[in-house]
Amino acid sequence: MELRVLGCSGGWPGPGEPCSGYLLTAACRRIWLDAGTGTLPELLRHTDLHRLDALWITHLHADHCSDLAAAFHALAYGPPRAAPLPVFGPPGLVRHLQPVLDEEPAELHRVLAVTEVTDRADYLVGAVRLTAVGVEHGMPAFGVRVVAEGRILGYTGDSRSCPAITDLARDADLLLCEAFLSAPTSRPFTSVMSPEDAGRHASAGGARRLVLTHLHPGADPGLARARAAAEYDGPIEVARPGAVFQTSGGVRA
Ligand SMILES: [Zn+2]
Repeated sequence: MELRVLGCSGGWPGPGEPCSGYLLTAACRRIWLDAGTGTLPELLRHTDLHRLDALWITHLHADHCSDLAAAFHALAYGPPRAAPLPVFGPPGLVRHLQPVLDEEPAELHRVLAVTEVTDRADYLVGAVRLTAVGVEHGMPAFGVRVVAEGRILGYTGDSRSCPAITDLARDADLLLCEAFLSAPTSRPFTSVMSPEDAGRHASAGGARRLVLTHLHPGADPGLARARAAAEYDGPIEVARPGAVFQTSGGVRA
């Protein structure tokens, strides 16, 4: 499996720093994980929406889904796909999209094949198995456990520290874990994690590798890494735009 970081800025984007979005390539399938602000232009540098096999939206905060509207416009008004784009997301995704897109339901379903996921259900994209793992973020939110090519990747989306994060980390070759509380925040947040939380869950689940993401804009990546390392002995990296992680080990770009 290969995970390419399209963007990873927590909460809001910066110059050259899109919000949450990743391109996962596994078993000859391309899956866009979260369509945060600014991630569609980055995605298009590596694939196009006609060759994309699926999109997974963890939750409906704009920094994880706002570029879905732009993707819809590209597919609705540009060259069409042979088949609707499969989109997996939380309950309420269709209800959320209709006023944003200002389209009739039939047009929405012509362009997107939306599946509103349920906790612990499996979804197949070719030979890639995606398991929805409900997390706690003050709204319906689902991390995803991806199994393909004999490898396991867990992605938390956004969540407070809760047992489901350990489930996402369980035996994972790579745990992609949000750590927004990596810098002082302007107001108290109870629905996101710290680098220490990420380290604790990586340890508890036996993850072989931890990648911190969704850091607070301006956070010091080295400090975040050190904070996570206080709780986890395995290899720790910090996501950055353009980085590519292979589940067989190593990072490039
Ligand atoms: Zn969020």
